[in-house]
Amino acid sequence: MLYEFKDAERAKEAKELVEREGVPAWYIELWGRYIVATPPGAKPKAAVKADVEVELKTEYQLVSRQWKKDPTPVRIGDREVKEGKVFIIAGPCAVESREQIMTAAKAVKELGAHALRGGAFKPRTSPYTFQGLGEEGLKLLAEARAETGLPVVTEVMDAADIPLVAKYADALQIGARNMQNFALLKKLGKAGRPVLLKRGLGNTVEEWLLAAEYVALHGNGDVVLVERGIRTFDRTLRFTLDVGAIAYAKQHTHLPVIGDPSHPAGDRRFVIPLALAILAAGADGLIVEVHPDPPRALSDAAQQLTFEQFAELVEKARALARALGKE
Ligand code: PEP
Ligand code: MN
Repeated sequence: MLYEFKDAERAKEAKELVEREGVPAWYIELWGRYIVATPPGAKPKAAVKADVEVELKTEYQLVSRQWKKDPTPVRIGDREVKEGKVFIIAGPCAVESREQIMTAAKAVKELGAHALRGGAFKPRTSPYTFQGLGEEGLKLLAEARAETGLPVVTEVMDAADIPLVAKYADALQIGARNMQNFALLKKLGKAGRPVLLKRGLGNTVEEWLLAAEYVALHGNGDVVLVERGIRTFDRTLRFTLDVGAIAYAKQHTHLPVIGDPSHPAGDRRFVIPLALAILAAGADGLIVEVHPDPPRALSDAAQQLTFEQFAELVEKARALARALGKE
């Protein structure tokens, strides 16, 4: 159950009243609302005099559109990811050097990106491959922001690194392989930074939305959902982009939903068509890998776009946005 109150005091009293019955209850302030949540199906007997009371049909509650009908905008630096607009996050898979990230940042900014991406802590399949520059990479991202004005998005892999990454980044990316790292998700609740939550490569849409529910229930409502492809029987492309998941998530949650065309493509020749499919399915934006010299990239070399390809993507995305009645 979700209970909404006009003031914090009454909400806190209600939480205590419910807990006295032995029903677990959480008090949270999200999206300008004072909320008391109890587990789905747990209906306390005590008379909770809430201003709004909703019983949801889903396991996830706070992120559900059944309850909050208006779309939630998420602020990243001085920009906003929101419904009705196409937000583009672009940059290399990993930060490799000052020259590489500065060149990439200036180019993607010039070509129309709204935010810069770049990994400093990389979740690599093999322990023998490039693992990222760590804090040095974060410092270079901060330099690139100072130079271009683009807010920066970067991955945090370990809960212990949240304060460090949050010190430099405008938004924290949670990688596909960490989507169900529940200790990490709980700590993001107090990270003080918006979260880009990638869907796990072997996770259902419901598991993805419940992962977002973890972050919200622990106090952080600034979550952007990211579809990045799942593993299926078909290995023609690197992963199978699930466009249906984008349409579903847009209808069932009020959070912004964006898509990553780079990781499912695995090959730069397929990135633009997948990016357009993501937008056509109703996504609020893209996160795409772009590198100054893709063949020489230290990670994901095959799938990163050249600046020229990124320019083509932005031009096509603009035309599609217009056709969809978006900014
Ligand atoms: C990435 O964005 O470079 C990345 C590792 O993504 P994912 O977690 O989706 O594989
Ligand atoms: Mn990558």
